[in-house]
Amino acid sequence: MSPGSQLSNAQSSGIHTAGQPRDVLVVGGGVVGLACARALSLAGHAVVLVERHGLLGSETSSRNSEVVHAGIYYPTESLKTRLCVEGRARLLAFCAAERVPHRLCGKLIVATEDDERPALDGIEARAAAAGPEVPLQRWTAAQVRARAPAVRAVEALWSAGTGIVDGHAFMHRLRVRAEALGALVLLRHTVVGVRPGAGGEGYHVTLQAADAGHETHRFDAVVNAAGHGANAVAALVGLDAGRVPQQIPVKGSYFTLAGAAPADTLVYPVPRPNLVGLGTHLTLDLGGRARLGPDVELDAPPFDHTVDPARRARFAQAARRFLPALREDDLQPDYSGFRPKLATDRFADFYLAEHRAEGLPGWVNLLGIESPGLTASLAIAARVCQLLDA
Ligand SMILES: Cc1cc2nc3c(=O)[nH]c(=O)nc-3n(C[C@H](O)[C@H](O)[C@H](O)COP(=O)(O)OP(=O)(O)OC[C@H]3O[C@@H](n4cnc5c(N)ncnc54)[C@H](O)[C@@H]3O)c2cc1C
Repeated sequence: MSPGSQLSNAQSSGIHTAGQPRDVLVVGGGVVGLACARALSLAGHAVVLVERHGLLGSETSSRNSEVVHAGIYYPTESLKTRLCVEGRARLLAFCAAERVPHRLCGKLIVATEDDERPALDGIEARAAAAGPEVPLQRWTAAQVRARAPAVRAVEALWSAGTGIVDGHAFMHRLRVRAEALGALVLLRHTVVGVRPGAGGEGYHVTLQAADAGHETHRFDAVVNAAGHGANAVAALVGLDAGRVPQQIPVKGSYFTLAGAAPADTLVYPVPRPNLVGLGTHLTLDLGGRARLGPDVELDAPPFDHTVDPARRARFAQAARRFLPALREDDLQPDYSGFRPKLATDRFADFYLAEHRAEGLPGWVNLLGIESPGLTASLAIAARVCQLLDA
């Protein structure tokens, strides 16, 4: 069967009203698009997901720290906090049910100098305001030493609820679940054109298949979860700069640490005030391998993923604040990822919007889905379902 006929079979027919099953196109096969495809299929919609690459999750979703965040850092009422807290609970339940490897290894946020203690107060207060789902403990230097002898701190916050997850296994199970519910996942299909139907009746979307030319199909609704491609996809329907926020790709590189991990928990410095990144930190993977990163490189050429070995000294210097025994020679360049940021000089929240008010009912844009987007993905998907049923 050709992709085109598969696609027609996956679609329902007729025009639908709010709350009824609809033909929904999800653009982007990263973790957010996959979570949306599963949730929309569960809600009874006929879902087609298109991904331009031959592999799902091969952009930002496979270039991150795989940390299950607890929702500590961001303004209490922001989507980043609320969807992170809700998404973490959903993610842990999903991982348990679907046997996705994960571990609640905990996280230390360390003050290494006395003048960083007020920053710990601020994080503690924000976590308390976020509610009981975001518990933090204040630890003395002695408590830190007892838990992680190689880590130097004058004081710290301990987040027992932070963990790590196998992001690829998570995405695989989302795909399996979505397909079991009838979703059609098309790889090597790029959205290249969109024409809104007359009278708000859906969208005629042109797909470029890697091996089969163009095809145009009609959908009742479109979820634009195209990550770094999301502004370009939004522009196809007329939502260009000035009408929706524009994403700025900001590079973050990682270095692996040779030998045994210096701690069996995640270790983060106190973040800098503008929150461009959380500060070069120690993360672990599920195999126990340690790495440092991501840093923040504002002027890197977009999507050049090379990790410059010359950054090693800067990494070592940043990490030695809390890992004093770290040797520069133990650091090896690893991978990098680009954050789709909406601002680089201030906090900017996730952008989730249905564009009915602009005459585009059923068109949902997801922009600025940087960290904690992996943690929040299942909550973002639940919100998308609400937006489409509103
Ligand atoms: C360095 C770094 C570290 C991070 N660490 C964490 C962390 O520890 N914990 C956490 O919770 N989050 C973390 N994040 C954030 C998390 O990785 C992202 O929020 C998440 O992966 C975003 O997923 P996505 O599906 O929106 O985007 P993507 O994974 O980028 O997926 C979008 C997909 O859309 C496809 N696409 C684009 N245009 C088109 C088109 N026209 N047609 C068809 N397909 C198209 C792309 O090929 C891509 O596969 C981190 C991010 C970075 C960069």
